[in-house]
Amino acid sequence: MTVIAIDGPSGVGKSSVSREVARRNGFGYLDTGAMYRAMAWLCLQRGVSDPGDVVEQIRGVDFEISTDPEHESVEVDGIDVTSDIRSENVSTNVQIVSSVPDAREELIEMQRDIISRVSADKGGIVVEGRDITTVVAPDADVRILMTAREDVRIARRAGEIHGEATEESVEATRAQVADRDRKDSATTSFLTAAEGVHTLDTTHIDFDESVAAVMGLVEEADGGNK
Ligand code: C5P
Repeated sequence: MTVIAIDGPSGVGKSSVSREVARRNGFGYLDTGAMYRAMAWLCLQRGVSDPGDVVEQIRGVDFEISTDPEHESVEVDGIDVTSDIRSENVSTNVQIVSSVPDAREELIEMQRDIISRVSADKGGIVVEGRDITTVVAPDADVRILMTAREDVRIARRAGEIHGEATEESVEATRAQVADRDRKDSATTSFLTAAEGVHTLDTTHIDFDESVAAVMGLVEEADGGNK
């Protein structure tokens, strides 16, 4: 069983690279950011923001997330929120969940359950987020911190949200990305690699090269396991 943990800030390309690495290896894929987003969606929907109430909502919720890299799906209490969790409202308010330590504990436990179940079933899993290499799965076989210069990340995120990275879309995205990373830095450490974690700087490399770099580290780890 191979667990591949990938952390990094927003706009670095973690999701698309992680998904592709999972596909090529026939592994499962877990987007932990989608879990924080789904719980934030639920709390926003119910008008809940007090930390104690947030934790209560998470404990009582019926939650489903697809771990198939070919199929993206997130359900909360039977409602399909796959696209709603990508809204600007959720992106800017996700910290009502991710800044609450007890809420994180709940989600981390769910993530660990998914990791052991899916990796046993498929032979491996790629898990991406902010604290996977350090907190959720510090024993993962491959641990990578993906980074890229801030202006590059902003341009990538602007391209994702607006279809192309024009001057206006870059400006609109800049404040949002910088603000989210600043707030996230208060709870998780994802800008410098912890000991034993590989840094993959994607500033000057494209998607295919990023995937190849991760695949190389996976092969290296497999060699070491034999
Ligand atoms: O990766 P994504 O941008 O979808 O993550 C959304 C938010 O979820 C982050 O801004 C962060 O607040 C939170 N998050 C987290 N820990 C993780 C993954 C995401 O705190 N492992």
